[in-house]
Amino acid sequence: MTILRTVNLVKIYSGGAVPVPAVRGVDLTVEEGEFVVIMGPSGSGKSTLVHMLGGLDNRTSGEIWLGGKRVDTLSESAWAVLRRKHVGFVFQFFNLVANMTVADNVELPALLAGVAPKDAKARREHLLGALNLTERADAAPAQLSGGEQQRVALARALANQPTLLLADEPTGNLDSRNTRDVLRLLSEVHKDGQTIVMVTHDARVASLADRCVSLLDGEIVDDGRISRRRSGGGSGAGEVIELR
Ligand code: ADP
Repeated sequence: MTILRTVNLVKIYSGGAVPVPAVRGVDLTVEEGEFVVIMGPSGSGKSTLVHMLGGLDNRTSGEIWLGGKRVDTLSESAWAVLRRKHVGFVFQFFNLVANMTVADNVELPALLAGVAPKDAKARREHLLGALNLTERADAAPAQLSGGEQQRVALARALANQPTLLLADEPTGNLDSRNTRDVLRLLSEVHKDGQTIVMVTHDARVASLADRCVSLLDGEIVDDGRISRRRSGGGSGAGEVIELR
């Protein structure tokens, strides 16, 4: 089943003196259970694209379909309802609720979506454990480091088992141990069928994905399945990732 489809999606920022074409005619289809990474140089339109996919930014033209429903024409309030159930976000700014504990921040989306409190608590405990955050459950977001806030944002995005997980550089602020925890959790939820679209510069994150979409100047210049083969020679070089 197709989870996400864009048709000739365009974003032109027209607020400044000169219009900036940030996304220029993107056609992207993501099937259920796929893990897609979006890569490309700074300024190539990656953040703009995922913001539009999550309804955080309006498109200039084109279409966005989520789970068979056209969503680019939705009002902000209709988007909010759709997001609550179907889209989990991890963005560079974390948007945690300042006066709620870490535990409550993570449980909130599930409770809002009508999940039974017992189940929301169990899911929260699992996610915080997986991200090495159990001891921070009662802390307020302001008491956390940037990396901890980023992991809480990931736990919150996954609390609901959303139809689509969107993430923009989810390992950007993390040290190597926390990056490992995040990668392990992403692999686990992907194995369980979670559909993921993620912007990253990090080759370790990309190596977990099924597919890598490369953007350049707002256009898709490459869209390839990632295949893996073992390199020979016994040099310990390990896995080689190829794009085709
Ligand atoms: P990336 O995520 O690949 O770094 P962005 O989507 O952030 O790229 O940016 C794509 C282009 O759009 C860049 O030229 C950037 O300067 C421009 N841009 C991004 N946000 C805005 C904005 N709010 N107003 C005007 N131009 C913007």
